[in-house]
Amino acid sequence: MNLRHANHTIYVGAGSNMANRLDNLRKAIDLLNQLPRTSVKKASAVYHSEPLGFPAQGWFYNAVFELRSELNPEAFLLLCKRIECLMGRPADHMKWGPRIIDLDILLYDNSTCSQKHLTLPHPELSNRKFVLLPLLDLANPIHPLLGKTMQELLETCPDTSAIERTEHTLLTGS
Ligand code: AMP
Repeated sequence: MNLRHANHTIYVGAGSNMANRLDNLRKAIDLLNQLPRTSVKKASAVYHSEPLGFPAQGWFYNAVFELRSELNPEAFLLLCKRIECLMGRPADHMKWGPRIIDLDILLYDNSTCSQKHLTLPHPELSNRKFVLLPLLDLANPIHPLLGKTMQELLETCPDTSAIERTEHTLLTGS
Protein backbone atom coordinates (compact mmCIF):
# COMPACT_ATOMS: atom_id res chain seq x y z
CA MET A 1 0.00 0.00 0.00
CA ASN A 2 1.24 3.48 -0.81
CA LEU A 3 0.96 5.03 2.67
CA ARG A 4 1.81 8.50 1.45
CA HIS A 5 -1.50 8.79 -0.38
CA ALA A 6 -3.63 6.50 1.77
CA ASN A 7 -6.74 8.01 3.27
CA HIS A 8 -6.63 7.35 6.99
CA THR A 9 -9.57 7.33 9.40
CA ILE A 10 -8.86 9.41 12.46
CA TYR A 11 -11.04 9.97 15.53
CA VAL A 12 -10.29 13.20 17.36
CA GLY A 13 -11.61 14.02 20.83
CA ALA A 14 -12.27 17.71 21.43
CA GLY A 15 -13.08 19.56 24.65
CA SER A 16 -13.56 23.15 25.75
CA ASN A 17 -14.48 24.77 29.07
CA MET A 18 -13.67 28.41 28.43
CA ALA A 19 -15.45 31.29 26.65
CA ASN A 20 -18.06 30.15 24.11
CA ARG A 21 -17.54 26.39 24.26
CA LEU A 22 -19.83 25.58 21.34
CA ASP A 23 -18.17 28.16 19.09
CA ASN A 24 -14.79 26.74 20.10
CA LEU A 25 -15.79 23.22 19.01
CA ARG A 26 -17.17 24.60 15.71
CA LYS A 27 -14.02 26.64 15.12
CA ALA A 28 -11.89 23.54 15.72
CA ILE A 29 -13.89 21.67 13.05
CA ASP A 30 -13.37 24.57 10.60
CA LEU A 31 -9.64 24.61 11.24
CA LEU A 32 -9.30 20.81 10.98
CA ASN A 33 -11.16 20.99 7.66
CA GLN A 34 -8.60 23.50 6.41
CA LEU A 35 -5.66 21.13 6.99
CA PRO A 36 -4.09 19.80 3.80
CA ARG A 37 -5.70 16.63 2.36
CA THR A 38 -7.97 16.37 5.40
CA SER A 39 -11.72 16.53 5.90
CA VAL A 40 -14.04 16.20 8.87
CA LYS A 41 -16.70 13.66 7.91
CA LYS A 42 -18.82 13.40 11.05
CA ALA A 43 -19.23 14.93 14.48
CA SER A 44 -20.87 13.36 17.52
CA ALA A 45 -23.44 15.06 19.68
CA VAL A 46 -22.08 17.60 22.15
CA TYR A 47 -21.73 16.28 25.71
CA HIS A 48 -21.71 18.37 28.89
CA SER A 49 -19.23 16.87 31.31
CA GLU A 50 -17.88 17.44 34.77
CA PRO A 51 -14.17 18.36 34.88
CA LEU A 52 -11.80 15.58 35.96
CA GLY A 53 -8.70 16.03 38.10
CA PHE A 54 -9.08 19.71 38.97
CA PRO A 55 -12.74 20.35 39.91
CA ALA A 56 -12.60 24.14 40.55
CA GLN A 57 -13.28 24.97 36.90
CA GLY A 58 -16.22 25.09 34.51
CA TRP A 59 -17.85 22.04 32.98
CA PHE A 60 -16.73 20.96 29.54
CA TYR A 61 -18.39 20.59 26.20
CA ASN A 62 -16.92 17.45 24.61
CA ALA A 63 -17.35 15.91 21.18
CA VAL A 64 -15.60 13.46 18.87
CA PHE A 65 -14.94 14.07 15.17
CA GLU A 66 -14.31 11.48 12.46
CA LEU A 67 -11.82 12.61 9.83
CA ARG A 68 -10.24 11.29 6.68
CA SER A 69 -6.70 12.47 6.10
CA GLU A 70 -3.60 11.67 4.13
CA LEU A 71 -1.43 13.16 6.88
CA ASN A 72 0.73 10.81 8.90
CA PRO A 73 0.17 10.71 12.70
CA GLU A 74 3.16 12.93 13.53
CA ALA A 75 2.18 15.64 11.05
CA PHE A 76 -1.43 15.45 12.15
CA LEU A 77 -0.50 15.80 15.85
CA LEU A 78 1.70 18.81 15.10
CA LEU A 79 -1.13 20.50 13.22
CA CYS A 80 -3.62 19.76 16.02
CA LYS A 81 -1.25 21.47 18.44
CA ARG A 82 -0.99 24.39 16.04
CA ILE A 83 -4.79 24.70 15.99
CA GLU A 84 -4.88 24.67 19.82
CA CYS A 85 -2.28 27.42 19.82
CA LEU A 86 -4.05 29.45 17.12
CA MET A 87 -7.25 29.29 19.15
CA GLY A 88 -5.45 30.79 22.14
CA ARG A 89 -4.32 27.85 24.24
CA PRO A 90 -0.91 28.59 25.77
CA ALA A 91 1.76 25.97 24.94
CA ASP A 92 2.69 25.70 28.65
CA HIS A 93 -0.88 25.02 29.81
CA MET A 94 -1.64 23.36 33.13
CA LYS A 95 -2.25 19.60 32.70
CA TRP A 96 -5.72 19.41 34.25
CA GLY A 97 -6.61 23.11 33.98
CA PRO A 98 -9.24 25.03 32.01
CA ARG A 99 -8.76 25.11 28.24
CA ILE A 100 -10.22 26.96 25.29
CA ILE A 101 -9.71 23.84 23.20
CA ASP A 102 -8.11 20.45 23.65
CA LEU A 103 -7.62 18.11 20.70
CA ASP A 104 -6.61 14.49 21.28
CA ILE A 105 -5.97 11.85 18.63
CA LEU A 106 -8.05 8.95 19.96
CA LEU A 107 -7.57 6.48 17.10
CA TYR A 108 -5.61 6.62 13.87
CA ASP A 109 -6.73 3.63 11.78
CA ASN A 110 -5.60 0.59 13.76
CA SER A 111 -2.21 2.15 14.43
CA THR A 112 -0.39 1.71 17.71
CA CYS A 113 2.48 3.84 18.95
CA SER A 114 3.87 4.33 22.45
CA GLN A 115 6.06 7.40 22.47
CA LYS A 116 5.57 10.08 25.11
CA HIS A 117 4.70 12.80 22.60
CA LEU A 118 2.37 10.48 20.68
CA THR A 119 0.61 7.45 22.10
CA LEU A 120 -1.91 5.62 19.92
CA PRO A 121 -4.62 4.81 20.69
CA HIS A 122 -4.86 7.69 23.15
CA PRO A 123 -3.80 6.25 26.55
CA GLU A 124 -6.91 7.53 28.38
CA LEU A 125 -9.41 6.39 25.77
CA SER A 126 -10.77 3.49 27.80
CA ASN A 127 -10.87 5.53 31.06
CA ARG A 128 -13.02 8.46 29.98
CA LYS A 129 -16.76 8.47 29.42
CA PHE A 130 -16.54 11.91 27.77
CA VAL A 131 -14.57 10.25 24.98
CA LEU A 132 -16.26 6.83 24.76
CA LEU A 133 -19.86 8.15 24.70
CA PRO A 134 -19.37 10.62 21.81
CA LEU A 135 -17.19 8.15 19.90
CA LEU A 136 -20.03 5.63 20.11
CA ASP A 137 -22.31 8.15 18.36
CA LEU A 138 -20.10 7.65 15.29
CA ALA A 139 -18.77 4.09 15.34
CA ASN A 140 -17.95 1.14 17.56
CA PRO A 141 -14.40 0.26 16.50
CA ILE A 142 -12.23 -2.34 18.21
CA HIS A 143 -9.43 -0.97 20.35
CA PRO A 144 -6.31 -2.26 18.56
CA LEU A 145 -4.44 -3.06 21.79
CA LEU A 146 -7.23 -4.11 24.15
CA GLY A 147 -9.17 -6.11 21.54
CA LYS A 148 -12.52 -4.80 22.84
CA THR A 149 -15.12 -2.64 21.16
CA MET A 150 -15.78 0.89 22.45
CA GLN A 151 -19.15 -0.34 23.77
CA GLU A 152 -17.40 -3.07 25.77
CA LEU A 153 -14.89 -0.54 27.09
CA LEU A 154 -17.72 1.76 28.16
CA GLU A 155 -19.29 -1.09 30.14
CA THR A 156 -16.13 -1.47 32.25
CA CYS A 157 -15.09 2.21 32.25
CA PRO A 158 -14.03 3.31 35.76
CA ASP A 159 -15.04 6.96 35.18
CA THR A 160 -17.87 7.93 37.58
CA SER A 161 -18.02 11.64 36.71
CA ALA A 162 -21.24 13.23 35.53
CA ILE A 163 -21.96 13.58 31.82
CA GLU A 164 -25.05 14.47 29.80
CA ARG A 165 -25.83 14.56 26.09
CA THR A 166 -26.96 18.00 24.89
CA GLU A 167 -29.22 18.92 21.96
CA HIS A 168 -26.46 20.92 20.26
CA THR A 169 -25.23 19.76 16.86
CA LEU A 170 -21.92 20.64 15.25
CA LEU A 171 -22.27 19.45 11.66
CA THR A 172 -25.49 19.34 9.69
CA GLY A 173 -26.24 15.79 8.59
CA SER A 174 -24.28 14.10 11.36
P1 AMP B 1 -3.05 17.54 26.75
O1 AMP B 1 -2.73 18.23 28.01
O2 AMP B 1 -4.17 16.55 26.81
O3 AMP B 1 -3.24 18.49 25.59
O4 AMP B 1 -1.74 16.64 26.41
C1 AMP B 1 -0.91 17.01 25.39
C2 AMP B 1 0.35 16.15 25.39
O5 AMP B 1 0.05 14.77 25.17
C3 AMP B 1 1.22 16.60 24.25
O6 AMP B 1 2.52 16.77 24.74
C4 AMP B 1 1.14 15.49 23.24
O7 AMP B 1 2.36 15.38 22.52
C5 AMP B 1 0.87 14.28 24.11
N1 AMP B 1 0.16 13.19 23.43
C6 AMP B 1 0.52 11.88 23.49
N2 AMP B 1 -0.33 11.12 22.78
C7 AMP B 1 -1.28 11.96 22.26
C8 AMP B 1 -2.42 11.76 21.45
N3 AMP B 1 -2.81 10.52 21.02
N4 AMP B 1 -3.16 12.85 21.09
C9 AMP B 1 -2.80 14.09 21.52
N5 AMP B 1 -1.72 14.35 22.31
C10 AMP B 1 -0.97 13.30 22.67
